[in-house]
Amino acid sequence: MIPQANPGAGYRAHREEIDAAVMRALGSGWYILGAEGRAFEAEFAAWLGAAHAVGCANGTDALTLALRALDIGPGCAVASVSHTAVATVAAIEMAGAVPVLIDIDPLHYTMDPVELAEVLARPPAGLPPIRAVIAVHLYGQSADLDAIGEVCTRHGVALIEDCSQAHGATHAGRKVGTFGRISTFSLYPTKNLGALGDGGVVATGDADLAARIAAIRQYGWRTHYVSDEVGVNSRLDEIQAAILRVKLVHLDAANARRRAIAAAYDAVLGARSPVRRAGGSHVFHQYVIRVADRTAEQARLRALGVGTGVHYPVPVHVQPAYAGRVALGPAGCTETARAAAEVMSLPMWPELADADVATVRAALRRAM
Ligand SMILES: *Cc1c(COP(=O)(O)O)cnc(C)c1O
Repeated sequence: MIPQANPGAGYRAHREEIDAAVMRALGSGWYILGAEGRAFEAEFAAWLGAAHAVGCANGTDALTLALRALDIGPGCAVASVSHTAVATVAAIEMAGAVPVLIDIDPLHYTMDPVELAEVLARPPAGLPPIRAVIAVHLYGQSADLDAIGEVCTRHGVALIEDCSQAHGATHAGRKVGTFGRISTFSLYPTKNLGALGDGGVVATGDADLAARIAAIRQYGWRTHYVSDEVGVNSRLDEIQAAILRVKLVHLDAANARRRAIAAAYDAVLGARSPVRRAGGSHVFHQYVIRVADRTAEQARLRALGVGTGVHYPVPVHVQPAYAGRVALGPAGCTETARAAAEVMSLPMWPELADADVATVRAALRRAM
């Protein structure tokens, strides 16, 4: 069976370099917030094209730290989407703010900027003021940054980019993660840039915000043992930072390989291929197509040796923890619900061999 994702292959492809990096971190005698973490932050910021990067424990915390650094918490609402990893919405509530969830554009699966403009002009009754928008660059390509950025500027709300699925994707010649006030990345093992454990990173062009995020991630300390404000513990450890430094060197090549695999699938799927947003490049965190009878399609592909996934089967606003209490925009997330019922993710990981790509292509030809 060809798995839909395979983080172990990402380790094995660079085993010697990663093992050496881990041994270096272990031998250093310093395990939290040291030289490896500082080097990773500098190398990641340089690769991204942002002035500052701050490591943290995971992508959920990265979003919460971004909100807290912007003073967004109790008494504030934050607009985002329901068609995302639940982490995006969980992070808003972790910061003490109230989420309001906007529907998606059904072609690109990202926030509908027209509905966002409506919600900012006429917020749902009973909602505290909307102070930020979290745009999610889903599946590996950018949300509609031009339109969303313009709406945020017009209404004076902060734009935060959730880049957890789009490390290296571009829009208008620049990497996503360089457009908002703050951007956040998960470094979970299956992400385009994945640790071998948990990790996250926050990027910003603003030195004061970066310093505040760095303080909040460690008890609110600016100097050791003295909390200037109430913080949390959300640190990236030295072993993961050392591993991530190796992975970062190979990220652009890995993204190029994901794009080549996508092109090979496109050649079979034709008009059913995923829609690319004009003016950007897609890094295919997931290769997602729509199928009417998903359960049957998945079973047919499984019988032909091809694993598939669903990202995501239940929209956040329908999940038991959120159903009936989370605010939605006027569209009521109808496109979100339709996408959740139909999306299916094909095998997509950079080490997928050409022979396996050929197996997937043959299975698609037979099954669909
Ligand atoms: C993975 C992911 C997150 C959360 O990251 P963790 O590291 O698992 O906390 C947040 N947002 C999106 C869009 C993600 O894909």
